[in-house]
Amino acid sequence: MKKTKFLISDVGLNLLQDSGEFPCAICRSGMGVNSIECSQRKLWVHKKCSGLTGRLVADPEFVCQRCRGVACPIDGQPVTHVDVDGTQLDVEATFCYLGDMFSAGGGCDHAIAARCCAAWGEFRKLLPILTSKHISFKIHNKVFTACVWSTMLHGSETWAPNASDRAMIRWICGAKLKDKISFAVLHQKLDLDEITAVLRTRRLRWYGHVQCATSCINSIPSHDWGFQAPEIVGGQGRRGPHA
Ligand SMILES: [Zn+2]
Ligand SMILES: [Zn+2]
Repeated sequence: MKKTKFLISDVGLNLLQDSGEFPCAICRSGMGVNSIECSQRKLWVHKKCSGLTGRLVADPEFVCQRCRGVACPIDGQPVTHVDVDGTQLDVEATFCYLGDMFSAGGGCDHAIAARCCAAWGEFRKLLPILTSKHISFKIHNKVFTACVWSTMLHGSETWAPNASDRAMIRWICGAKLKDKISFAVLHQKLDLDEITAVLRTRRLRWYGHVQCATSCINSIPSHDWGFQAPEIVGGQGRRGPHA
């Protein structure tokens, strides 16, 4: 029980990270021109985060939602501890389960960042092989897909396609940015598919599994998805469900 962690999930509970010179008191991202200063802690707040409507005018009495204690928490934890049968459990903003990173606010940004980080670790370990001039591109392809891609794309069936392996591919091929060689040429050299195409294939394969499933995962009505579901051809075959 001691190692058990608690994750409270809700909209707006993502771990907020500071960006820019003057992060907004509410959302922590960098400040633009359309903003108002909070009279309490003298921090600037975006108009969209201020809760004000109409044209923004300087107000010496303005108190932001953070100072009023009604803004979403910065660390993604509405409470720090939860009491379960007399045991105090820590509340976490992110949680790694079977290599997938869950975050309190939902979404897949943390999962993608964690997988890309792990893939870069693998890539650096294999650099002597992947960049060796004495090994053919065919072997590079095999090592790269077996070790780096498999690490990067673990659990990628539920991602948006924004993982990138372009820097790695450029490194393997010894191509510099200033050489301006197109990625079509580099992919051809390594006989490698575009990662976006691989992600699309994996997502569609997973979608096919969901469509063919008999468990509760298939019980979400398709009109809740917000898009027209494609028709699946195929189904329960000898080798199991497939799209
Ligand atoms: Zn803001
Ligand atoms: Zn404030």
